[in-house]
Amino acid sequence: MFLDLSSYFNQANFRAGFSLGDFSYNSKNDRKQLAENLELKSENLVIPKQVHSHHVQICTTPGELADTDTVISHSTDIVLSIQVADCIPLFILDKNSKMFGLIHAGWRGTAKGIVGKTMSEFKRINEQTRDMIVLIGPSIKQCCFEIGPEVAKEFSKDFLIQGKGDRSFLDLQGVVKTQLLNAGINSENIIDLNECTCCQPDKYYSYRRDGKRAGRMIAVCGWV
Ligand SMILES: [Zn+2]
Repeated sequence: MFLDLSSYFNQANFRAGFSLGDFSYNSKNDRKQLAENLELKSENLVIPKQVHSHHVQICTTPGELADTDTVISHSTDIVLSIQVADCIPLFILDKNSKMFGLIHAGWRGTAKGIVGKTMSEFKRINEQTRDMIVLIGPSIKQCCFEIGPEVAKEFSKDFLIQGKGDRSFLDLQGVVKTQLLNAGINSENIIDLNECTCCQPDKYYSYRRDGKRAGRMIAVCGWV
């Protein structure tokens, strides 16, 4: 099964999807399968090696990419993909320029400013942000995202709830939303699916819940 998120973008030819835990996970083949389920051409897939960085890559040709956590394209012949299991998948579309992208936003990349950096790349092509839509996909939410002081110190107290001892709970989606607003995205164009991966074992993989053996979900988007 997968979530077809295309309708959130309200563009006839734009497709976006997210695989659920029971989608047959088998490394690269799954991306092809998901792309084809969305009517996207699997031979046009871009597959980045993700490294929790704030590297942003503009993609003009399909294939595998070295270390990057944001992929962006303005080509209708490119299909973007990333994988996640608790980190936030951010789907971005600028309806005006037709530019689109995916961010793998975990706490490390978010603390390093990957969201703002990505938005700057979009604004280099089109300064107007009013036609930009950003969707926050299934990811670990504050209910389950317990962190230690070394992670907490990277974030404003506004996004932390005190836990036991020196532990706290981080609202990473809240951090990301604030960064998007600061980048000029309209609040009504920020869509949060509000789904916690850790809370829903029947639906999602979760690194926090399942550990190193956790599977991965795939996010794919592109133009048909
Ligand atoms: Zn939860």
